[in-house]
Amino acid sequence: MELIDTHCHLDFEPLSGVSNPEYLQLTLALAQAEKVSSIIVPAVTSSRWQAVLDVCAAPGPIKRYPALGLHPCFLSEHLDNDLQQLEAALTQHSQIKAVGETGLDLYIDTPDFERQLELFAGQVLLAKQFSLPLLMHGRRAVDQIIKVLRQYQPPAGGVLHAFAGSEQQAKQLRDLGFMIGIGGSITYERAQKLRRVVKAVPLESILLETDAPDMPMQGFQGEPNWPHRVGYAARTLAELRGESVEKVAEQTTANARRLLKI
Ligand SMILES: [Zn+2]
Repeated sequence: MELIDTHCHLDFEPLSGVSNPEYLQLTLALAQAEKVSSIIVPAVTSSRWQAVLDVCAAPGPIKRYPALGLHPCFLSEHLDNDLQQLEAALTQHSQIKAVGETGLDLYIDTPDFERQLELFAGQVLLAKQFSLPLLMHGRRAVDQIIKVLRQYQPPAGGVLHAFAGSEQQAKQLRDLGFMIGIGGSITYERAQKLRRVVKAVPLESILLETDAPDMPMQGFQGEPNWPHRVGYAARTLAELRGESVEKVAEQTTANARRLLKI
């Protein structure tokens, strides 16, 4: 069995090992023991790009692939020339597998939607220019994301991570060539709507993720999340769908390999 964590902030403490280098090795060893072969590491601000590239290049087991982008929740940290800097970084580093984490967020207090939209559209255009997939965040903004994707039609597709939308929105994304990212949220029994959606969506359009160190899974509230827990998400998804965990692992891993060209 092989699993891929398609969304893990490995550059964040305590996973990154910045305060204690043994932590990164421990994180990777635990993931390896849970059959995780690869981790995709998205960046949230330009000040984190180098840290993301470094944590992906550090020695250790588990292949790690960087994505660079500008997260909508860190709006005040993005600089005026960040989109130009992103273009330069994508030109310079051929190991980058996606543009992200980007997207839109209408849940945060006083979202400057116009600025969010400007940065998101700019990143969609860069994804088009470099034929890279998009790793997107879309809290309370799934329809707005779909609208932008319809307008620009980025050909390499991407994923809406931590998906919490409807079956219809999942289908609209699929029709545009996009997948949905599913992680710890489905481990909570109260996530009735999401659990119904992940049962109905074709397995071909689902990627597994943890969003570690965020989004702790059921039973681990109050603790940091870890990439090895992608196995917990896989087992829960298999149970909900009445399929074997091997089948879920095989298909979602193939989906990630196809999308990210890894
Ligand atoms: Zn994230």
